[in-house]
Amino acid sequence: MKILVINSGSSSIKYQLLDMEKETVLAKGLVERIGIEGSRIIHRVNDEKYTLEIAIKDHDQGLSEVLKLLTSEKFNVISSLKEIDVVGHRVVHGGERFSSSVIINKEVLDSIEMISFLAPLHNPANVSGIKAAIELLPNVPQVAVFDTAFHQTMPKTSYLYAIPYEYYERFKIRRYGFHGTSHKYVSTRTAQILEKDIESLKIITAHIGNGASIAAVKYGKSVDTSMGFTPLEGLVMGTRSGDLDPAIVSFLAQEEGITAKEVIDILNKKSGVYGLTKGFSSDMRDIEDNALAGDKVCRLALDIYEYRIAKYIGAYAAAMNGVDVITFTAGVGENSPITREEICENYLTYLGIKIDKEKNNFKGLERIISTPDSKVTVVVVPTNEELMIAREAKELISLK
Ligand code: ADP
Repeated sequence: MKILVINSGSSSIKYQLLDMEKETVLAKGLVERIGIEGSRIIHRVNDEKYTLEIAIKDHDQGLSEVLKLLTSEKFNVISSLKEIDVVGHRVVHGGERFSSSVIINKEVLDSIEMISFLAPLHNPANVSGIKAAIELLPNVPQVAVFDTAFHQTMPKTSYLYAIPYEYYERFKIRRYGFHGTSHKYVSTRTAQILEKDIESLKIITAHIGNGASIAAVKYGKSVDTSMGFTPLEGLVMGTRSGDLDPAIVSFLAQEEGITAKEVIDILNKKSGVYGLTKGFSSDMRDIEDNALAGDKVCRLALDIYEYRIAKYIGAYAAAMNGVDVITFTAGVGENSPITREEICENYLTYLGIKIDKEKNNFKGLERIISTPDSKVTVVVVPTNEELMIAREAKELISLK
């Protein structure tokens, strides 16, 4: 079975074609700057990278060019579009309507469009990708996999904000959580690596990349996560503030003479470690390099970043009344021994956590990094959202 995974943003399409027999990637790539000058496709087959500079006006055309590349003799990936059995789409927001992946039909597509009021930047782009795929591959089943779905198991104690209840009823204001596909993938993989039943484990998954969130996964179900109504809540991120006092929004709006929406824009795009370092960088590699070279501003930003993660780990150990495993994933979690070590050693020894520094000194592999006598096991699992989307799509199609 061959599955095309599509992740469409407002001006981009990320794609991956997987052969599910051995779960191998046949080709992958990125269409960028859709509708903007300088659009191009970066297409990768095996280790070969090919760049196609081409004017792309919309998602339809972008996907059409991708399908041409996939079937082109030059790359020898597939010989015909008939070889694509399913298309799996990443959809950011599933609201309360979608607690698992679904095969897309007209009613599902309408619902995703209706939920767009909750994710105005993301869902409309996802819908454009779905519509383009339906048009270009009309006989191929399409599946939607939602970023929020895994967190729909959260209890009300986790997802309700303490604001007048009518706002939940009228506007669906509640915590939804994001990165669900990643938290599901790494928690499942964690149980497999430890050769334990996920239903016996209390796992804290730390997806720390440019965007970052943490989840409490109790016996295989998400019971809490740090992102909320939008992906702004929770951890300190590359450019996002994470948690703060909501009164700051109106205060800043008044002091700066800007709208609340403009303040939120600042909290999304100019804050996080980027804001803390006075615009030096949103990239944790830069922050880390400078911090280790003695730069005090970057050192402080890194300390604040790590401290917030440690606070959430403490909170989620309480939320689950215990923790068996902590799993690190995403750009920083997979690749930064120093951040993993500092979080565990500076804050979490009270949980009986002991890190094996030698084992921790690596990048991008699956590995247990705690010592055998550590009371909590600490694991690194590279995330793979595309594979998870393909697996969900495969499962749904097999059940059909
Ligand atoms: P996203 O998918 O949210 O855009 P990623 O999960 O790809 O983000 O993570 C990107 C982040 O990971 C960047 O801040 C990058 O600097 C960081 N990162 C990647 N490699 C390393 C490394 N070796 N050390 C520290 N941070 C790293």
